[in-house]
Amino acid sequence: MIRVAKSAVVPHSLLVVGNTKYNHQDVQKQLIEDHKSKCYLCERTLVTDYEIEHLRPSAKNNQKLKTSWSNLFLSCGYCNKKKLHHFDNILNPSLHNIEEIILCNLATTKSVSFSSNMSGNFQVAETIALLTRIFNGTGKIRQIKEEQFYEYFLSRMNNFYSSLDKYISAKTPENKAIMIEELEIKQEFLAFKYHILKQRQDLFDEFTPYMVWNKV
Ligand SMILES: [Zn+2]
Repeated sequence: MIRVAKSAVVPHSLLVVGNTKYNHQDVQKQLIEDHKSKCYLCERTLVTDYEIEHLRPSAKNNQKLKTSWSNLFLSCGYCNKKKLHHFDNILNPSLHNIEEIILCNLATTKSVSFSSNMSGNFQVAETIALLTRIFNGTGKIRQIKEEQFYEYFLSRMNNFYSSLDKYISAKTPENKAIMIEELEIKQEFLAFKYHILKQRQDLFDEFTPYMVWNKV
């Protein structure tokens, strides 16, 4: 999960007097553009399987939250189901640099852990709990979809580790270009890449100018 920059211009359909819908075409189009077609929770690229997620719950009697542009985010069905109404107080990614607040650690290939030096804050703690559930599953053993999610995540991270190793062993312009591409805003799992690079201050400093998603 990383910072997301949402359009300052509110999609027109949400401004129409008497509007009760939050999923008009213009809203979908703007969210896809702002989120670079990625789920704001897991950072996977979505093709057609996307949903409009309410950051704060939109109970039937709260029309304002239901159609408020600042409350709408693009999510995948997998994460939306994990969040439901159990995590209504997570950090707002359009207000906070989540990648700086929450540390992602892929120490083993079996699970990932999330931590923060602000974990005493209830919003931070709830965000960590949700991310833990998304990446590690809800039970002791991952269900099929959770396993598929994790396998996909690991394959993408292995690609990144391999690009990084290549660059460390030969700092050629070609290898650097591959690394820069890995860090583009449209890429998946940027929060993890951010923390992997942070473990090497020289590399982190070198590639910081290319992590434009962190410059909101
Ligand atoms: Zn997701």
